[in-house]
Amino acid sequence: MKVGILGGGQLARMIALAGYPLGLKFIVLDPDTNAGAGGLSEHLLGAYDDPALLAELAEKADVVTYEFENVPAHVAEFLSSHTLVYPPAGALAVAQDRLLEKNFFRELGIGTAPFAAIDSLTDLQAAMADIGYPAILKSRRMGYDGKGQAVLRSEADLAAAWDSMQGAAAIVEGFVNFSREISIIAARSPSGEIAYYPISENQHRGGILRIAECRDKDPSQTLAEDYVRRLLEKLDYVGVVALELFDTGGALLANEFAPRVHNSGHWTIEGSETSQFENHLRAILNLPLGSTAPRGYAAMVNFIGGLADNAELLGIANAHLHLYDKAPRKGRKVAHATIRTDSEAAYLAGLQQLAHLAAAADDS
Ligand code: ATP
Ligand code: MG
Ligand code: MG
Repeated sequence: MKVGILGGGQLARMIALAGYPLGLKFIVLDPDTNAGAGGLSEHLLGAYDDPALLAELAEKADVVTYEFENVPAHVAEFLSSHTLVYPPAGALAVAQDRLLEKNFFRELGIGTAPFAAIDSLTDLQAAMADIGYPAILKSRRMGYDGKGQAVLRSEADLAAAWDSMQGAAAIVEGFVNFSREISIIAARSPSGEIAYYPISENQHRGGILRIAECRDKDPSQTLAEDYVRRLLEKLDYVGVVALELFDTGGALLANEFAPRVHNSGHWTIEGSETSQFENHLRAILNLPLGSTAPRGYAAMVNFIGGLADNAELLGIANAHLHLYDKAPRKGRKVAHATIRTDSEAAYLAGLQQLAHLAAAADDS
């Protein structure tokens, strides 16, 4: 079996690493020669909407999936008419537009921050009467790692924030005064079987995920599972999904979802019986899903813009290193490390050491 992946970065790389033991082969389509998965897979080098490359991908792959959800909708539709594509193109369409996504949450009865569609400075000025300060203006499409966002603290910020959108359609959201951010990752197979991971508790800085910790038996687990199940069933979803939530002291508000494996689930490589990457492959290949049970305490720390010394990092008890084979660049995720142990004390000590190394390497 050959799995096609749109996007050849670290997510595709980790999917391929999980797939080799299952006897799978991979082909990635990515415009970047240095994409981290390129060396592990057959690589089609070019634009995501190049018709000849898409035809070749559809021809060679038994099933196509993606690590990058911002491919044009017609690409997923073209591929769907020639081969199996999971998750379905409809899930992609909702996830890549923040306005459709927020309306979708509403339709499912899942709370969100107050929001409004913004297509002009006049729209923004009018909406702020209801939304109130502080708030965040976000481009509807293409944002990640907090890019394409502007914080609004008062009316004086509106004109510059709207200018920064460069005419792109946007939404404005009220700022949520959350007690913590969490995400839930789940996998659904074509038969409708769903496997839920323990939620992750996530720390961001500057809009970029820094640390994700597995929170087994968390009080918010049941509600988070209920929300992600609604989403999976409504979209007739197949594959792994991640739902990002703000915890406001028990009530959970949906921020966004990613129709793919997710950075906040990288701890599952060592920290769960079956990683999110393996379960994504199992789901899209219609194989039985693997156990999502946690293996002790686990957390992940991102390396942004720079790396630690390998020997120093691996000298930390219970630490594991995952390099992405990407050239360091300012603000770019180049690696992550995890800590996994059965001892709470060792977990806390190891996590602190990893976080220290990551902070020292961080250029953002
Ligand atoms: P990702 O890399 O997760 O795809 P993104 O660019 O799509 O990021 P968001 O997830 O919308 O951006 O926002 C990034 C972070 O900014 C959030 O994880 C959260 O910390 C903060 N944030 C975003 N929206 C809000 C909000 N309405 N209220 C409070 N904080 C917010
Ligand atoms: Mg996002
Ligand atoms: Mg996010």
